[in-house]
Amino acid sequence: MTYSEILKQYWGYDDFRGIQREIIESIGAGRDTLGLMPTGGGKSITFQVPTLASDGLCIVVTPLIALMKDQVANLRCRGIKATAIYSGMKSSEIVTALENCIFGDYKFLYISPERIASELFIKKIRRVKVSLITVDEAHCISQWGHDFRPAYREIKALRDMFPAVPVLALTATATREVAKDIQQQLGFKEENCYSMSFGRKNLVYVVRRTENKAQELLHILGRMSGSAIVYTLNRKKTKEVCDLLVANGITAEYYHAGLSPESKDAKEEAWKSGRARVMVSTNAFGMGIDKPDVRLVVHVDLPSSIEAYFQEAGRAGRDGKDAYAVTLYSRADNGVVARRLSDNYPSQDFIREIYDEICYYYSMALGDGLDCTFEFSLGDFCKQYHRPTLQTDSALRMLTRMGYLEYVEEMEYSSRVRFIVGKDSLYRFRGLQADYELLLNALLRNYSGLFNDTVFIDERYLSRITKLSRHRMYEIFVSLSNLGLVAYAPSKKCPIITFTRRRVLGSELRFTREVYDERKAAFGDRLKSVIHYATSDDDCRSRMLLEYFGEKGSDDCGRCDVCIKKHAQKDSMPSSSAVDAIMQLLADGKEHSLDELTAIKSPESTRKKVLRQLCDEERIKIIDGKIMK
Ligand code: ADP
Ligand code: MG
Repeated sequence: MTYSEILKQYWGYDDFRGIQREIIESIGAGRDTLGLMPTGGGKSITFQVPTLASDGLCIVVTPLIALMKDQVANLRCRGIKATAIYSGMKSSEIVTALENCIFGDYKFLYISPERIASELFIKKIRRVKVSLITVDEAHCISQWGHDFRPAYREIKALRDMFPAVPVLALTATATREVAKDIQQQLGFKEENCYSMSFGRKNLVYVVRRTENKAQELLHILGRMSGSAIVYTLNRKKTKEVCDLLVANGITAEYYHAGLSPESKDAKEEAWKSGRARVMVSTNAFGMGIDKPDVRLVVHVDLPSSIEAYFQEAGRAGRDGKDAYAVTLYSRADNGVVARRLSDNYPSQDFIREIYDEICYYYSMALGDGLDCTFEFSLGDFCKQYHRPTLQTDSALRMLTRMGYLEYVEEMEYSSRVRFIVGKDSLYRFRGLQADYELLLNALLRNYSGLFNDTVFIDERYLSRITKLSRHRMYEIFVSLSNLGLVAYAPSKKCPIITFTRRRVLGSELRFTREVYDERKAAFGDRLKSVIHYATSDDDCRSRMLLEYFGEKGSDDCGRCDVCIKKHAQKDSMPSSSAVDAIMQLLADGKEHSLDELTAIKSPESTRKKVLRQLCDEERIKIIDGKIMK
């Protein structure tokens, strides 16, 4: 089958989009390849199609467990065999997954980077016929990226195990520097990068300076209609802003990582269905959320990096219709940003203490702990040890980057189901109610092994295909389990900590320059880029963002606040004031360079026109780039 036929048969799409075909053909030719495509651009197809065309399995390394499960479920429903290995799985479950890959002609194995170094994996994976290694979110391998994860460095070992197999690295956020680093870290045989424009024509970027953000937010929401996300810096503020909106007659919900799983689900559902127009959230909200008709994303506080901003703003207008990404900026923000550096990089002593306390918290003896996973409540821990939440959270992230533990803010354990009765009895029971029937059919069609084994199911996905709400599915499963037909363990969402090394003393933690000093400096630089974005007002916002990612020479978008202001100036700026400014500069009778004119606050086109006019009138002379009376 050709690539196009595979695309048509499994996905029903007629054509490849953007640079999908180039990437697929590059992989087909056995070349290591880096693909840079914006979120929603369709990266998954670029490894799925060539794998289906090959005779072997694709290992997909990806850090997001929730998305991993979604993809596995999605492939399975297209009749493609896929499985996953991630932190928190029992070793018997991991063995089953790997044996399926060896004996069961599976096509895709998703794995989180932390699992690559495990003995079990290394022993078994050698026996699998691997045809491609895919690294999703590949920017995580670069310490220059905004989301460095040391575990990504294990991927090089995986690649060394299969020297003849090509590597496909994919990401939506990479500056030129990071793109280069990714290829180096993965040991590309030669540089080979495909990228497409990250420009979003339907997205209008706006920065609003205001000393009253609340009022400005209400004003913006009042002037526009449609679904919106408002991002704030901390958890407390999500609720405050939400209350403000509700008090002003705008339906809203708030969201952050500290909420209970039930209320997270309920809030997400309310927003998705449109019952709440606005979701006010920390950056914990949005990953993997697929709502195409978001019309507005407002940042009430500045984000921590342009990378994060671009991702968050990019959640608006997925449907291709006009949408706005607005950042509110006030003078106080500079101080807030400076504090963020110290909140995100607490002192090394602080981090050592937190590590020790986490070990006490779980009664972990020295030398123990490897691969142990615990549920974690930041609130409870901080109360018990009298620690500030923000810095503690940062310390845990730092310990994650250093490889001592893995702190996952929101781990979702899938629900698990097994049929207790055989096929025959099950069929006898059917014909109960229409929605029972619907759910059972969907289960049987999408999951195999339900009669012999406990199987992870993805309720998000089942809900999408059956159109049953997750609550209704829960009710059905509970009643089926009361009838003695199925064994059911509902899903839960909670933060977890996994020890990825044996416990040491806090005083023995190793802070390398790479993991602490250099990253702290890089974090500071990223904050500076954000401030620059919010405060400069002479370059098209869209172009500024694209240039940050190394995309040069894009046109003015014509619609951001800077472009609009320029247009307005062009129309209203009397050229006489530009004339005055130029003549004033020359009043000293000396020569001046043309470059000095850029200090004059008027659009370049106006300046040029005025210069020409003044030359014509012989009031000035321009010789060799110098201007004089
Ligand atoms: P990314 O990983 O780049 O964010 P995904 O791989 O999740 O994006 O794809 C985003 C959406 O685009 C998916 O719903 C996918 O099915 C769809 N898609 C991908 N390729 C095509 C195509 N060639 N034609 C139409 N839709 C596509
Ligand atoms: Mg993706």
